[in-house]
Amino acid sequence: MSEATGQATVGQKVKPVTARAYAAQSPTSGLAGITIPRRDPRPQDVQIEILYCGVCHSDLHQVRNEWKEVLPTVYPCVPGHEIVGRVVKVGSAVKKFKEGDVAAVGCMVDSDRKCANCLAGEEQYCEQLPTFTYNFPDKVLGGVTYGGYSESIVVDEAFVLRVSDKLNLAGAAPLLCAGITTYSPLKHWNVGRGQKVGIVGLGGLGHMGVKFAKAFGANVVLFTTSAGKTEDALRLGADEVVISRNAAEMQKHAGSFHFILDTASAQHDINAYLTLLKLDGTLTMLGAPEKPLPVAVFNLLFGRHRLAGSGIGGIRQTQEMLDFCAEHGITADIEMIKIQQIDEAYERLVKSDVKYRFVIDMASLKV
Ligand code: NAP
Ligand code: ZN
Repeated sequence: MSEATGQATVGQKVKPVTARAYAAQSPTSGLAGITIPRRDPRPQDVQIEILYCGVCHSDLHQVRNEWKEVLPTVYPCVPGHEIVGRVVKVGSAVKKFKEGDVAAVGCMVDSDRKCANCLAGEEQYCEQLPTFTYNFPDKVLGGVTYGGYSESIVVDEAFVLRVSDKLNLAGAAPLLCAGITTYSPLKHWNVGRGQKVGIVGLGGLGHMGVKFAKAFGANVVLFTTSAGKTEDALRLGADEVVISRNAAEMQKHAGSFHFILDTASAQHDINAYLTLLKLDGTLTMLGAPEKPLPVAVFNLLFGRHRLAGSGIGGIRQTQEMLDFCAEHGITADIEMIKIQQIDEAYERLVKSDVKYRFVIDMASLKV
C-alpha cells in the first residue's frame, strides 16, 4: 500500500473471494449468471451485500459496446452502479461504517485522490480518471472492475455513501447515478426560484431532474417524445409538458429558458433546444448517445448561448444529495425486476418504456 495516498496498488496482497453476478459475454449475448472475483476487505474496505441495483441506460450502452470509441467494453462485463445494500464486513481501519449499516455505492470506487479536482471534491473529474465501478482497470485485483449486478461488492470506505433508513431502499438505489447526475448540474448552474428550466426526456435521469428542479423552486417544463408520459410528468412535478416532436409547440417557448438539462439517450436535434434559450442561457448535456450531435453555431452566437456537459458528481456532493433526499422524502419511481428479466428491461429502455427506473431485487440472484 502507498503510504502517501492510502491506496492499494496492483500486486498488493489481497485474498480473492468469489461472488455470484450477471454478465454480458459480448455486445449481443444478453446477460447470464457468472462467478466473479471480489477481494476480502483490506483495512480500509467495506464489504456490502447488495440488496438493490438500479438499471442505468449507461449499463446498456456499455454492455452493447456503444461507447467503443471512448470506453470500449471488456467482456465479461458486469454492469450496475446504483448500488444499495447492507454492510456485512468492515476492515480494521474503517470508521464510517459497521456491520449491519445500510451503505451505497455509485459510479466510482476510487480515484487518484491527490489531483486538484479530487482535492476539490470533484473525483468524477479526476485527472487520472476515477476508477469507475465497472469496466475499468481494477487497481487492486487487476483485470477490470465488476459492478452491482452481483451479490456483493468490496469498496474503500472513502467511496461508500450513507443512506438514511427513512428512505425506501429500492427507490433510493437510482439516486446513486440518476439522482446525483441531475442534482449536480442543477446545483452548479444555480437553478432555482424565478427560473424557467427545461428537462429533456422522462426516463431515469429525466424524472429525477424534474423532481430536483421542482424541489429547488424552478418553473419546470418537461420535453418528451412520449405523449403518454404527460400525466406522470405533471404528477412528478413538471409545471408544463411539451411534446418535442411537435414543432409548433416547441416554437411557443423560443428564447424563454434560463437552463435546459438534456437527458436523451439517443440521437436527437439539440439545435431545437439551443433556440429555446434566453440570453446567456445554458443547455447542459447529460445523455451520452453513441454518435456525435451536430451543432449549428448560429444557435450559440445568437443569444450568447452556452452548450455544456456534466458527469455524475463528487462523493461529497453525492452524500449531500442523499441527505437532501432523506430530508425531502425524494426517491426514484421504480419498477422492480428480477435479475432474470434484465434483457427484457434493456429492450424496454431502448423503446423509452420505463416508469421511471428499473431496479433489480438482488435476492433474485440467489434463486
Ligand atoms: P432512460 O431511462 O432510457 O431515459 C432516456 C430518455 O430519453 C427516454 O425515456 C426518452 O424520454 C428519451 N429519449 C430516448 N430516445 C430519444 C430520442 N431519439 N430523442 C429524444 N429523446 C429520446 O436513460 P437514463 O438512464 O435516464 O440515461 C439517459 C442518458 O444519460 C444515457 O445516454 C446515459 O448513458 C446517460 N448518462 C449520463 C450520465 C452522466 O454522468 N452525464 C450519467 C448517467 C447516465 P421520453 O420518452 O420522455 O422522450
Ligand atoms: Zn448511470
